[in-house]
Amino acid sequence: MTGLGTARVLVAGLGVSGVAAARVLLDLGSSVLLTDAAERPVVAELTAAGATWLGELSVVPEGTTLVVTSPGWRPDSPLLADAARRGIEVVGEPELAWRLRITGPDGVPAPWLAVTGTNGKTTTVTMLEAILQADGRRAVAAGNVGRPLVEVVTARDPDGTPTFDTIAVELSSFQLHWSSTLAPAAAAVLNVADDHTDWHGSFAAYRDAKARILERAPVAVADAGDPVASSLVAAHARPVTVTLGEPVPGQLGVRSGALVDRAFSADPAGEVLLEAGLLQVPGPHNTVNALAAAALARAAGVPAASVARGLVGFRGGAHRNVLVATVDGVDWVDDSKATNPHAAGASLASYPRVVWIAGGLLKGADVDPLVAAVAPRLAGVVLLGRDRDRIAAAVARHAPTVPVVTVPSGDDDGMDGTGVTAEATTARVVAAARGLARPGDTVLLAPAAASMDVYRDYAHRGTAFAAAVRALG
Ligand code: ADP
Repeated sequence: MTGLGTARVLVAGLGVSGVAAARVLLDLGSSVLLTDAAERPVVAELTAAGATWLGELSVVPEGTTLVVTSPGWRPDSPLLADAARRGIEVVGEPELAWRLRITGPDGVPAPWLAVTGTNGKTTTVTMLEAILQADGRRAVAAGNVGRPLVEVVTARDPDGTPTFDTIAVELSSFQLHWSSTLAPAAAAVLNVADDHTDWHGSFAAYRDAKARILERAPVAVADAGDPVASSLVAAHARPVTVTLGEPVPGQLGVRSGALVDRAFSADPAGEVLLEAGLLQVPGPHNTVNALAAAALARAAGVPAASVARGLVGFRGGAHRNVLVATVDGVDWVDDSKATNPHAAGASLASYPRVVWIAGGLLKGADVDPLVAAVAPRLAGVVLLGRDRDRIAAAVARHAPTVPVVTVPSGDDDGMDGTGVTAEATTARVVAAARGLARPGDTVLLAPAAASMDVYRDYAHRGTAFAAAVRALG
């Protein structure tokens, strides 16, 4: 990028993306200033490479030309508010990466195909990566998943050519809030449900941040089944929606059990991409994700055969609707990544009769509409975590005849507040679910809540669940 060699850049927040940004800026010859709430071990390495550590700051230093902020920092934090007041530009690491893209022998940087949404981002972006790689492209999934974008857009092979020719980019609402010029070749908003309003200030601000991904994209993709996402693309010059129903022109959808493209196909009747039954990941939500990934790939000129090869080989991510084991005719599924009610709703809709394991930190989300919608599928409910009583109340209202077992946990500080380990709590949860399940049922861990009251994170929760299930066998 022009200008950064002489820039004085303040990197605010030294998480993975902040550190990567600092390294790339130092390589470019920028003057790099560092700030964070605490001095992390990596600071020594960065200062040795020429950066200046300033400790915690509430005011942007004189002479700073650009602030690169961590996605976690709120716009109203003192430092970022000071930058705004003084007209100093603040960007996130993806926006910085967009400005730093290197070009190949043809003089053109690798195009970005970008995905956002409340749920399904990582699945869709990794499906897209698989499709692009099946097409022979040197593609990578990056951004809010995988490696930082600044690293990926500046990576070169030993012979000097750019390592990647197409980038599948996952962007969060926080990253989009701090983006201003990035222009993907095609972009998707999968869905927009209530989440992160504490950070953005309101649902409208959260939705508007998501919509930014579409602003400079020539093709705008959304799930037709999501009212907010589809309204965002409706006014776009080239809207493409995906549907679980029969596609009309301009859509990708499902016809006679096959995924069909009627948006990018030369044939007005559409082109079959693959049989839906060949997808290895369960549930209607994953069919939507596959259609959205296919739409972005097709926008980039990928033929149907490559879409099929990529999707057929896609096995899904850890803790996302993974069948752990079948014990005595009962399927045990780990969807620990269902950390909000919208995700849990999609997950529950994937199985006909479910013993549902739920609970944790609801983060203020309303669980009532979810429980009302899934009540007919519930064979039993096992609740854990701090907000378990709120879910119990919703079940009592909407599914009063469904048996509920509550496992005390996550009430105060410490591992789970009851003096027992997270693993012991999980074993009790699994034993309770076993007592409620009949052959043919699915026991589904889809908590609709964050995990940190009892577990380190969603992966710890899922791993503990899988271990307890295997111990049953
Ligand atoms: P993200 O990266 O947005 O968190 P993931 O692909 O990791 O999304 O999926 C997280 C969880 O969201 C999944 O485990 C599943 O429960 C749910 N989910 C996945 N795709 C969708 C979708 N299209 N709509 C609603 N929920 C979904």
